[in-house]
Amino acid sequence: MNILQRYEAMDYGAAPEARNEADAWLAGGDFSKALFIGGQWRAAASGKTFATEDPATGKQLAKISDAGDADIDAAVAAARKALPKWLAMSGYARARVLYAIGRAMQRHQRLFAVLESLDNGKPIRESRDIDVPLAIRHFIHHAGWAQTLDREFPGHKAAGVVGQIIPWNFPLLMLAWKIAPALAAGCTVVLKPAEFTPLTAILFAEICEKAGVPKGVVNIVPGGPDAGAAIVNHPDVDKIAFTGSSEVGKIIRKATAGSGKKLSLELGGKSAFVVFEDADLDSAVEGLVDGIWFNQGQVCCAGSRLLVQEGVADALFAKIRTRMGQLRLGSPLDKNTDIGPLVAAVQRDRVSGLVEQGARQGAVCWQPDNALPSSGYFYPPTLATGVSPANILAQEEVFGPVLAAMTFRNTEEAVELANNTRYGLAASVWSETINLALHVAPQLKAGVVWINGTNMFDAACGFGGYRESGFGREGGREGLLEYLALKTAPAGAVLKPSAQPEIRIGDGEAPLIDRTPKLFIGGKQVRPDGNYSFAVADRRGKLAGEVGLGNRKDIRDAVSAARAASKSWGEATAYNRSQVLYYLAENLSGRADEFATRISQLTGASAKAARAEVDASVERLFEHAGMADKFEGRVHQPPARAVTLALHEPVGVVGVVAPDEAPLLALISLVAPALAMGNTVVAVPSARYPLLATDLYQVIEYSDLPAGAINIVTGRSAELSAVLAKHDDVDGLWVIADSDTCKQAEAESVGNLKRVFTGNGRSVDWNSGPWSPEALLRKAVEVKNVWVPYGD
Ligand code: NAD
Repeated sequence: MNILQRYEAMDYGAAPEARNEADAWLAGGDFSKALFIGGQWRAAASGKTFATEDPATGKQLAKISDAGDADIDAAVAAARKALPKWLAMSGYARARVLYAIGRAMQRHQRLFAVLESLDNGKPIRESRDIDVPLAIRHFIHHAGWAQTLDREFPGHKAAGVVGQIIPWNFPLLMLAWKIAPALAAGCTVVLKPAEFTPLTAILFAEICEKAGVPKGVVNIVPGGPDAGAAIVNHPDVDKIAFTGSSEVGKIIRKATAGSGKKLSLELGGKSAFVVFEDADLDSAVEGLVDGIWFNQGQVCCAGSRLLVQEGVADALFAKIRTRMGQLRLGSPLDKNTDIGPLVAAVQRDRVSGLVEQGARQGAVCWQPDNALPSSGYFYPPTLATGVSPANILAQEEVFGPVLAAMTFRNTEEAVELANNTRYGLAASVWSETINLALHVAPQLKAGVVWINGTNMFDAACGFGGYRESGFGREGGREGLLEYLALKTAPAGAVLKPSAQPEIRIGDGEAPLIDRTPKLFIGGKQVRPDGNYSFAVADRRGKLAGEVGLGNRKDIRDAVSAARAASKSWGEATAYNRSQVLYYLAENLSGRADEFATRISQLTGASAKAARAEVDASVERLFEHAGMADKFEGRVHQPPARAVTLALHEPVGVVGVVAPDEAPLLALISLVAPALAMGNTVVAVPSARYPLLATDLYQVIEYSDLPAGAINIVTGRSAELSAVLAKHDDVDGLWVIADSDTCKQAEAESVGNLKRVFTGNGRSVDWNSGPWSPEALLRKAVEVKNVWVPYGD
């Protein structure tokens, strides 16, 4: 074969990366003592071990100590013990530790990369050029946050002891995404790597020893799901950070409900890769290679759903097939390998099972006849065309090298198809018309959108999902906030379940029932579905009035009205929302005397205190009106030829369950930031003092809020809160109530993993925090990172 023939065949010999250093490390380690707890290497208390193997050969690499409950107890105790000293260090001192970790990792970069490829099966090009450098960047980037924390995040403190559980697809990178921000925030950590890929976490623990990380600040506990569950359920852990499947994420959401633990979940995805007809198709094909065949498709944000505009579909499919035929499957340590083995036999079998099922459901599954290595858990790259939106390949996360393709006719259809998933992690948009791409990006329900690119990550840019892809962000400011708590802890009084006192009628006074306010849904006062009302007592236990008793159906109607309004209100300009809220404040101010009288009549507050509550409510509305066009996103400049627009988007439909304490101020304090950021609201006011909310109907009617932007359903708060929690079209739920109601809201939210925030059964001082207006504004937005590359 001459050079030209070789060039045309693109056939070249193996170029293996040397593995002797990794083999020496494996041969020299005693992995039966691989639990790194309090700075010491230990065997599991049970003496148990588990094997980790090379997925390219199926051969065992090492037998690793398997952490059990007693080991998790010890690790959490070590992290707790280390916390005060770690916190007492200056930010600068902590920054130096983070920097030292990054530098020490740099010195062992090659060993990390080879071990990662051996343990996980990912091609060395990826571990060497992507996973390991990004992990190092994470530590070095976060050193700066550690040093400037007090200045950059005033009013915040470390969340405390953090339990972190990670998956096997990016073992070292996920570890870095977890540990770097936690240490920068001043937390101490207990991290459990995935059972398939513990090796680089163990090497990382050695790096911690070398870099001078104080004992107990980082604890690494290899183990399986039971060890993970022990971390989740440990009473002395303050925060859980989990990356993994949506299924386990939901178990963790339920398990932590009512515990007061902070929680972030980075879960699965079914991300759309949208190609418009004016896209550069060759670039899009290369994007797809990265989007779905990177790491064998075992990527949470894999562009696994190709949506292509009809006119260019055949041309694109032809190019994809040609390119697929050139992908080389082979040893992960060969620098020419494009696709390595899947992580384990069980994963390969799962992928092939899903492809067979997809084919049975009508998809046409095509695979090139590229040579497959004779050993190892390889699965060929697969293109499924003719996939209906309901096909399992369009709906389920396959987590393998399988691309499901569909076509669309116009932009609206593209957006609709892209959003037709229960996930919301990432999306790619391909078009040479930047206007079109930037028009589409905000309409996609995904935490990250890449324009004319895919899989771009950086420590400065937040990453995370919507819906069943989880909540919380990793990277950037928003990622750091996940490891911080507000300094003023919500240590208000313990709240009791809201209940109406028995009404005493008589004592010479006739009950004052001049009207029965209804519910406020879709901009109208409507009769409750059940046609029931309930009596409201005044401060002396006498009848003050009656209000509608809302039920499940009323909540459903209110949610539909809120959803219908979310387009007009969510897409209104911030200036427009600001003016409407100012007007609302003005109208409430005009009726301040009336509201103050009502507060006194119902709660028994003095005239002065009642007036102060109304004034504070007006002031709160004013403040949020003012912030509506100021609480904005940012632009990041990652180390790439791209800018990243961190946009603030409304969460969507937000349920608000307000407490009895400060009934007007609490309701306004919760509803106003939600509205200011473009959310639409279904509010359940205090069950004890609902007349304050029903008195607001007229104020709302006279403001210019679009119908459905705010809906008010009076009734039994705990019952209505549970209905909101279970409703899959509610995106966020804020509950200030007794602890059972709060716990129930968190536990019942697993259907669509809505963002729930509760007061943990405590009352809130609305004048002095901890829920400052800014903290609530933060809860009212999702940060979407839109990556826009530039250059030729
Ligand atoms: P998994 O959920 O099975 O396991 C993840 C981790 O959780 C492992 O360490 C496992 O031991 C542990 N675990 C399992 N059951 C547990 C339980 N009941 N309690 C506590 N811990 C438990 O997921 P996986 O198969 O290892 O990883 C693949 C999944 O991870 C995919 O769904 C993928 O999309 C997701 N992922 C998400 C992101 C992201 O940032 N959103 C990144 C990488 C991977």
